[in-house]
Amino acid sequence: MTKIVVTGIAGRMGQRLGSLTVEADDLSLVGATERENHSSVGCDVGQFLGERNQGVLVSNNLEDFIELADVVIAFTSPEATLRDAKICAENDTAMVVGTTGFESVQLEEFKRTIAKIPCVFASNFSTAMNVLFQLVEQAASQLGDDYDVEVIEMHHHFKVDAPSGSAITLGEKAASGLGRNFSEQAIHGREGVVGERSRKEIGMHAVRIGDVAGVHKVLFGAPGEYVELCHTATNRDAFALGALRAARFIKHADSGLYSMEDVIKADK
Ligand code: NAD
Repeated sequence: MTKIVVTGIAGRMGQRLGSLTVEADDLSLVGATERENHSSVGCDVGQFLGERNQGVLVSNNLEDFIELADVVIAFTSPEATLRDAKICAENDTAMVVGTTGFESVQLEEFKRTIAKIPCVFASNFSTAMNVLFQLVEQAASQLGDDYDVEVIEMHHHFKVDAPSGSAITLGEKAASGLGRNFSEQAIHGREGVVGERSRKEIGMHAVRIGDVAGVHKVLFGAPGEYVELCHTATNRDAFALGALRAARFIKHADSGLYSMEDVIKADK
């Protein structure tokens, strides 16, 4: 039995992670957190998730559960995830982290902190999206500089960071296939008289609309044709089930930073 703590249990991802953990035969939900003053704090987590009572009260402090946990799963905010990573590092507890939107300084601090523990950190936990990451790198390297590359992502209107972490990974994969540096070539949106498209830029576009769980497209275009590689998340279970697969993997892994690609490879 793998003992799981879900941080941000009331969030869109937190609720699916909590419910799918309770439903799994080999996982046990031993703790759940929410931010201070959230209405779920003090409630039984089962009642809150629409499941039977679990005998676990939601807390605003991860330290309340850290000694019980095999793995802490964090899909919250960069600030909360950084705080929780420090608690996990101090207690030698493994993590699965899906939080996106880290500023570069926060990301460096986060990576330094989790280097001491086993941690899977991924911008997207869906298996199909991780296959798309590989396909985009392969397509970019075969199509080469003759093809313009543009990345378009669509998400629900509550999403706070843009472009999405997955769109950034797709841009990085395309750049890697083309031998370019993504951060030097990325152009985020276009407005005004920006001039002709330069050959090496990678266009990044974020759409925010309704309740879309996540759509990502990478387009490669040249005179006379374009090809579009697309992933659509129809709900959040693809991410939550991937994160639980990562939790089963990381419980037995040595300290270090792992990707979802590592998890998928290890299962083969
Ligand atoms: P959300 O806003 O619905 O949920 C975040 C939850 O975290 C909220 O309930 C919030 O109250 C809680 N929270 C904030 N501070 C906290 C703290 N200090 N302690 C405990 N809980 C705290 O957002 P969401 O849609 O569930 O997404 C969460 C994160 O996961 C975002 O960064 C999103 O981009 C990312 N995400 C990643 C993937 C992936 O596959 N990697 C998939 C979906 C979402």
